[in-house]
Amino acid sequence: PLEDRVAIITGSTSGIGLGIARCLAQAGADIVLNGLGAKDEIEATRDELATHTGRRVSYHGANLLDGVEAAALVTDTLATFGKVDILVNNAGVQFVSPIETFPEDKWLTIQDLNLSASFYTIRPAFAAMKGAGWGRIINLASVHGLIASPFKSAYVAAKHGLIGLTKTIALEGAQHGVTCNAICPGYVWTPLVEGQIADTAKARGISREEVVENVLLAAQPSKRFVTVEELGALAAFLCTEGARSITGSAIPVDGGWTGQ
Ligand code: NAD
Repeated sequence: PLEDRVAIITGSTSGIGLGIARCLAQAGADIVLNGLGAKDEIEATRDELATHTGRRVSYHGANLLDGVEAAALVTDTLATFGKVDILVNNAGVQFVSPIETFPEDKWLTIQDLNLSASFYTIRPAFAAMKGAGWGRIINLASVHGLIASPFKSAYVAAKHGLIGLTKTIALEGAQHGVTCNAICPGYVWTPLVEGQIADTAKARGISREEVVENVLLAAQPSKRFVTVEELGALAAFLCTEGARSITGSAIPVDGGWTGQ
């Protein structure tokens, strides 16, 4: 259903972003990957995705902490592919610490990447989508865009902000064929979650195993991690015609977490 669509997925060299890129490519979209990492590994990922899906897959190395580079990710894609139909703002980082000792630089990085980068990519993308009369913007928020957990002040604040941005863009696009939604995953097993297990263990004074059992999966009634394939399937659906009335929504994919 996504043949001839051009999709940019930020932070797609790993984890959820790569899973979403794979699903959109399988559904027929051409893909622009973005994210950090070793050049040869990224090229291997790009080549594998292109070979297995038969789609045009390119890579743009914008560092999204820089607003100028974030905007260039979109304007360069417009120049190369002629259009941008789908923008998935997925790149994000986490840092876990009690508020008293939360480092200022971590606070700022999380606001810049998890919130402001989406402002910088949406601005040029929205203009192009509005001009074309069709567009899909998907922001990877989190259950932490809807509710909080202790020790994640910067992340929870940025993700709540991202849902606010999502609703605003939805209103501005509502009569122009442009939808904007947030996906709100519970815990997904990716490098981002692996990285915070040690920090959470330290902040709470418990072992790694106890973090997985009593902190991560304790919140998730399904007692299993969400998969990147499940998130990719939702993203692909949001890009179809059947989803044209879904806009301004923050959709939990959390095994029942926020239902409690
Ligand atoms: P991940 O660490 O596996 O991937 C993050 C991606 O962002 C990587 O491709 C990385 O290279 C890229 N990135 C990091 N800094 C960047 C920068 N400055 N410029 C460009 N790209 C950059 O993380 P993930 O778990 O796949 O998370 C993806 C998104 O999903 C994030 O926004 C995260 O907050 C959100 N999320 C994750 C979970 C989870 O449990 N993993 C849950 C809810 C929400």
